[in-house]
Amino acid sequence: MRILITGAAGFLGSHLVDRFLAEGHRVVGMDNFITGSRDNLAHLAGNQQFEFYEHNVSRYIFVDGPLDGVLHFASPASPIDYLRHPIPTLKVGSLGTHNTLGLAKAKGARYLLASTSEVYGDPQVHPQPESYWGHVNPVGPRGVYDEAKRFSEAMTMAYHRFHGLPTRIVRIFNTYGPRMRAHDGRVVSNFVVQALSGEPLTIYGEGRQTRSFCYVSDLVDGIYRLFMSDRVDPTNIGNPTEFTMLELAELVREMVGSHVAIRHEPLPVDDPKVRKPDITIARSVLGWEPSIDLRTGLARTIDYFKRVLPKGQ
Ligand code: UDP
Repeated sequence: MRILITGAAGFLGSHLVDRFLAEGHRVVGMDNFITGSRDNLAHLAGNQQFEFYEHNVSRYIFVDGPLDGVLHFASPASPIDYLRHPIPTLKVGSLGTHNTLGLAKAKGARYLLASTSEVYGDPQVHPQPESYWGHVNPVGPRGVYDEAKRFSEAMTMAYHRFHGLPTRIVRIFNTYGPRMRAHDGRVVSNFVVQALSGEPLTIYGEGRQTRSFCYVSDLVDGIYRLFMSDRVDPTNIGNPTEFTMLELAELVREMVGSHVAIRHEPLPVDDPKVRKPDITIARSVLGWEPSIDLRTGLARTIDYFKRVLPKGQ
């Protein structure tokens, strides 16, 4: 197959590019580097199966030749990124989704939308099944991301129902691993980078809020299976093992072997108090579940940051 991946230079996009190439497909990558990095694709230089276009997918997209799949992964995706780029975030989730859907329709390609656990907002149902409609503040600072992704899901379903486009929607829960940016503000990268640099770990609020962390190769495997499956309705992919931020901080300190202090900072506005995917559907429909526990994944992530940090990333 020949597949377009938007956001190809990002954390998840670049791992997906690798997976599709490893499965023998040809990949066209697209990114405007608003938050992506050329370093994430540097290892593909000279690979004949990979083409790359620098382009903002919120503008009209032109791709020459046939396409069998379009995976829309372009978007700022960490809270500090979408707070820094609120309007590009809204545009890539609305105009970018419309353009990529239109491209998939024109090429007769299968479409997969990268959605998010943020569609559940600060959830009042725990863990979150796909049938839960969520609890989102549309006008809060996170609304630019949450509502753009909710609009993306509605648009994707409209293309499926009205145009008969074969579509898939993955709701991605917190994911970590190599190629995260050291300073994108996510909790795992923050704690690992802080511990390696001998700085205090910044816990927002009391640290009793929870998240469930999925290692990137598990996530990519779930997405690949979903893309190949027939499932149209949204599907949670994430690791259901839940931790408080205090527990995560303790584990990072122990694994880095660092005695850094913990510094409490204010809790961001609308920060979800709990988050944990119900993956019953992924298990039964895709035969997927995560296989890498937090300790194993963190060890690999710590090794990665040990390698890249001296280069100033
Ligand atoms: N968090 C924290 N310290 C940090 C960064 C994040 O305590 O240095 C908390 C944040 O308030 C949230 C959780 O960790 O409750 C996960 O934050 P992240 O930005 O990784 O992603 P989110 O799940 O909120 O989108």
